[in-house]
Amino acid sequence: MVIFEAGLSKHARVKDVIWEGEWCWPQASCDVVELQQRVRNIPISYAPDSIHWDKVGEAFSTARAFHGIRQRSSSVDWHDIVWHSRRIPKHALSLWLAFRGAHRTKDKLLAFGVVHSAECAFVCGETETLQHLFFQCPFSAMVWREVLLLCNIVRPILPWADEVLWMSTHARGSAFHHTVRRLAFAATTYHLWIERNRRCFKNLFLPYQEIIRLVRQDVSGKLASSNSYPRCERYHSLCVNWGVPLGEDI
Ligand SMILES: [Zn+2]
Repeated sequence: MVIFEAGLSKHARVKDVIWEGEWCWPQASCDVVELQQRVRNIPISYAPDSIHWDKVGEAFSTARAFHGIRQRSSSVDWHDIVWHSRRIPKHALSLWLAFRGAHRTKDKLLAFGVVHSAECAFVCGETETLQHLFFQCPFSAMVWREVLLLCNIVRPILPWADEVLWMSTHARGSAFHHTVRRLAFAATTYHLWIERNRRCFKNLFLPYQEIIRLVRQDVSGKLASSNSYPRCERYHSLCVNWGVPLGEDI
C-alpha cells in the first residue's frame, strides 16, 4: 500500500529512491514519510547487495533470530542444577516446574474450585502444597532422606527454598559426586510427583521403598551410560550405593 501510494511500481527496488547518492522519495502519504525517516540514517553504498542479520557481516540463523526477539529473564542460581549436560530430560522438566512453582498442587486446585479437598495424596492429613510435597510430607521426607544417604549426605530435611539453595551451592560442579546429587534431586522430585499422580488418578499406591528403587534405577542407569567421570577410591562408596559398575581406579 505504501509503495502504491508513493507512485512506485510493485517491482521498485531501493535504487529507484536514490538519486545522485541521496535518498530521493516521491511526494506521498504520511506512511512514506515515516519510511523516509526510518531509512534517513542508513548510509547509501554502491557496493553489491549482500544480506546480513542484525549487524554487517552476521549471517542469518534461526538461533540469532530467536535471541533477537526473545525477552531475556534475569539469571537464576539454580539454572545449572536443572539444565546440566547429564540431565534426564523428563526429570529436568519436572524439576524446572518445581523451581517455577508450576505444579498444579491441590492447594491451587482448591482455590480454582477444581477439587473439593486439598488433602495430601500421601494420606498424612496435611494440605498438599509445593513445600509440603517437596519434602515436608513425612512420606516425601522418608524418600528424600534415603536418597540423601545414597549420596552419602546426612543432614536434616530443609524447607523447599533452602533445599534449592543447598543444591545450588553443593551440587553445581562437574565433579562426579555433584552430578550424582543433581540427578538424585531431580529424580526424587519427578518420582514423588508421578506417585502423587498415580494415587490421585489411578488409585494405585506404591510404598516409599519402591519410589527409592525407581530413583536409584534411573540415576544409576544414567551414571552407567556416561563413562567420562573418574573412577577413584573417593567415589567407590557412591558407586556401590547407586549400583554403578566400578571401573579402573585412577
Ligand atoms: Zn503429606
